[in-house]
Amino acid sequence: MTNKTLSVSAINNGTVIDHIPSGYALRIIHLFRFLHDKNKITVGLNLPSKRLGLKDLIKIENRMLTDLEASEIAIFAPEATINIVNDFEVIKKIETKLPTNIANIFHCLNTKCITHKEQTESVFYVKEQGKQVKLICHYCEKSFERDQIKRSARY
Ligand SMILES: [Zn+2]
Repeated sequence: MTNKTLSVSAINNGTVIDHIPSGYALRIIHLFRFLHDKNKITVGLNLPSKRLGLKDLIKIENRMLTDLEASEIAIFAPEATINIVNDFEVIKKIETKLPTNIANIFHCLNTKCITHKEQTESVFYVKEQGKQVKLICHYCEKSFERDQIKRSARY
């Protein structure tokens, strides 16, 4: 048995997000508020990966990611593999693919955007340009790099 198999199967119930580009695991934990549920989280940073060179990995116990959450994580980790584990067995593999839009998580960085004046839900369109992922605000049409985007305190 390889170390990789061991590290993945070491979780009893929950979600394993593997093949995250190195440097993004902590950002994903923060942006998607995985710490808020008080679940046990194990993080691997800068692990060797054949595919990515270096990768990050997140294991969240007793939390099953939904397909929607998986697609939102794909904005930051387009090549991630997401395994849902139950009783030490992988019961579901979610294929990450970029969502066409993302709502109610991030806030628009344009301070003049109407979403700051009114209690409007944020909506961004997700566009892939080569290796870059951009988010375009539905309301002010400004475009932001995924690395710029911030969590809204409102949601
Ligand atoms: Zn905006």
